[in-house]
Amino acid sequence: MSIKPRVRFAPSPTGFLHIGGARTALYNYLFAKAYGGTNILRIEDTDLGRSTPEYEQNVINELKWLGIEYDESPERPGEVGPYRQSDRLHIYKKYALDLVEQGKAFYCFCTDEELEAKRQYAADNNLAPHYDGTCKKFSKKEVEEKLAKGEKGAIRFSVPSRSYTFNDFVRGEVTFESGVVGDFVIIRANGLPIYNYGCVIDDWQMKITHVLRAEDHLPNTVRQLMLYEAFGVTPPIFGHLSLLIGNDRQKLSKRHGATSVTQYRESSYLPEAMNNYLCLLGWSHPNETDIFTKEEVTKHFTLDRFTKSPAVFDLEKFRWVNGQHLRGLDGITLHQEASKFINKDSPYHAQNEVWQKEFLDLFKIKVDFFNEYNAHATDIFNPTRQENEGLKEIYGWESTATIAKFVKDEAEKLIGQGISFLNAEQFKSWEDHLKIEKKIKGKFLFKGLRGVITGKDEGPDLHRLALLTPLKIISGRIDL
Ligand code: GLU
Repeated sequence: MSIKPRVRFAPSPTGFLHIGGARTALYNYLFAKAYGGTNILRIEDTDLGRSTPEYEQNVINELKWLGIEYDESPERPGEVGPYRQSDRLHIYKKYALDLVEQGKAFYCFCTDEELEAKRQYAADNNLAPHYDGTCKKFSKKEVEEKLAKGEKGAIRFSVPSRSYTFNDFVRGEVTFESGVVGDFVIIRANGLPIYNYGCVIDDWQMKITHVLRAEDHLPNTVRQLMLYEAFGVTPPIFGHLSLLIGNDRQKLSKRHGATSVTQYRESSYLPEAMNNYLCLLGWSHPNETDIFTKEEVTKHFTLDRFTKSPAVFDLEKFRWVNGQHLRGLDGITLHQEASKFINKDSPYHAQNEVWQKEFLDLFKIKVDFFNEYNAHATDIFNPTRQENEGLKEIYGWESTATIAKFVKDEAEKLIGQGISFLNAEQFKSWEDHLKIEKKIKGKFLFKGLRGVITGKDEGPDLHRLALLTPLKIISGRIDL
């Protein structure tokens, strides 16, 4: 790419950061990184009724958690700020007045009631639901008089009657036929810009080269193209990302489960796994690999690998991806991060660091996210007996009764010596004794021993698990 891209993520802080928003933010970040460009965060908070500072903070915090960094943002202003739309109202006004001056926009004094009546009339008469042009007829003088009298007017854009075509780098050529939109408001009577207008002024003024955003915004693009044309400005290159859908192929919503980044963070998902999984929803890696970090993927990130078809958000796959990242963590990080998600009252916290690290490492194969460690920790210390067919069979063997008696006696001996956990040599001597003295071999030995020590018929490596299980639990586990 000959020019360095300038891209932006422009969230409206009207809710917690949605996973779809996080995906858009990620793609913009990766694109900027891949081509040595600039990544910008712009807060689109002009919907005063729905935007809140708390949501803005949530969006900013979650982006930080994901490691999506910005070169320019409200927190790190560059030369084209301010980066929050509510601080840019004077800019929107100035350019809107330029359009009025050039006859490309006009003041509209219609009240909400009048507009509603017009809409109703259009609907009743099968007419396009477009503004009927009432206020277009006012002369400049009449407008000035109204404004001087204190009448509040919105500013409407005078829509040209022609079709618009642009090349979307995800969807290919897109054409909007003439007449799809009527003269639309760009600045409301209260002075606030509408999204399509604020967005154009900002993308233009912030020298944005590429707009990567959700498919929902495709219909808005025609209004934006008209405005670029009116200002005599070349529009940025657009790419509308495929829709995120649930397993039922409906647009992803709360019905499908957690949709905010916060919910996944709080459920102990890893930021790298979230980036990895989101990246695969609508873009494919050239090496057809499924597991990568965002640093690795920047080496391969090109705009020609986006897919048009909707992307299914599949929680099972996300869990799997998270599990892959979890298992890739080094011991120190795993201990540091997983410990935060193990319940405060879990017996895990009463153990020393060596025990904790060994436990986390051993059960890595059994969990996909940190929260799942809780059940395993409880299980080790909770002597409830698991009733299943496999275990019933093991407990039915005569040899198991022999193992149980031996283990109970030995465990009690060690407890008497003030020992709380077995070590590897002790465990080995138990095994040897059962093999050599008691002649118990093969599945009768290893399944029997597991059943007696853990109260389960399957689980991770018994040579390690036995050392993590308190002797007190082992001694009282079964009474055959
Ligand atoms: N504020 C818009 C949104 O949150 C931004 C859309 C765009 O990227 O142009 O959907």
